[in-house]
Amino acid sequence: MNVSPAANVQQSAPVETPTNVLIVGVGGQGVIMVSKILARLSQLQGLHVKQSEVHGMAKRGGSVFSHIRFGEEVWSPIIPMGEADVVLGLEWAEGLRWLSYLKPGVGTFISDTRRIVPPFSCRDRQHDARHGYAPHSVAEIVSQVPSAFAPDATGMAIELGNERVANTILLGVLSTVMDFPVERWLEVLPEFVPPKTLETNLKAFEAGRQWTTQPHEPELTEPTTLHQTSPAVRRKVSLEINEAWCKSCDICVKMCPERCLALNEHQIVELVDADVCTGCRVCEWLCPDFAIAVHVGTVPVETMPAATATEVRA
Ligand code: SF4
Ligand code: SF4
Repeated sequence: MNVSPAANVQQSAPVETPTNVLIVGVGGQGVIMVSKILARLSQLQGLHVKQSEVHGMAKRGGSVFSHIRFGEEVWSPIIPMGEADVVLGLEWAEGLRWLSYLKPGVGTFISDTRRIVPPFSCRDRQHDARHGYAPHSVAEIVSQVPSAFAPDATGMAIELGNERVANTILLGVLSTVMDFPVERWLEVLPEFVPPKTLETNLKAFEAGRQWTTQPHEPELTEPTTLHQTSPAVRRKVSLEINEAWCKSCDICVKMCPERCLALNEHQIVELVDADVCTGCRVCEWLCPDFAIAVHVGTVPVETMPAATATEVRA
């Protein structure tokens, strides 16, 4: 939701003061890609840029953050606490975690409202289980930040047909508060996104920009958890395993809470007990080689047996 007119970050800062943008999220969301796009834009504007990043361990699913500082002269790559002009959260709770870095009273907070609940914060193994994770509503957070944009970027990306372009939707939102010409963003985007997803990414970027022009009511309840389902539907789960990328590390096999994965005779992972796979996505998040994609759909309870399907491609 947009609670204030789009802030012009660069105009709000003296020329000699670097602009500070903190980009945060979890592994696999594209934090580094977003920060590289911003760094490239700054370079094209002839600005001095410093970028630093921390990957959330080696596995996917951990915290990832990147500091971008640009201006006429930048000495340190690290944004001090309370000095970020923008905190851009690709995941809701990660965005909240870094709120203290925002400049009090003038900083802009942008975040996807979808939550990716870490598997180890869940209190049991059922779908949509209780969890010890940021319970704050969007309305609660937005009321504390003078300039906030909180779209359901993941939901919008799913509507566009590719959940992974949520980061580009947020880039579109970000573009409305930065001073770079929109043509520059459109020039730089193709350098960083896979060519086959360029068209969707361009639509996502525009969708993010358009979102800021519409009025939005703040959500009074907790934001939606990724892939939340209602009691009236059952999940239909399929695993897509890229055999060429699987390096037989066994991480997914050991970490699957339902013990339904195994390495086959070729040391490639496969789903051996489809009936108990819950679609929790732990395997997808933890695979260091992006070899597993979990696809979760829903069907009405009365038409769907508890079985799941596996799709394997080489
Ligand atoms: S799918 Fe990924 S995590 Fe699982 S064994 Fe292969 S490389 Fe390791
Ligand atoms: S989604 Fe993956 S980790 Fe979760 S139950 Fe199914 S196979 Fe196991």
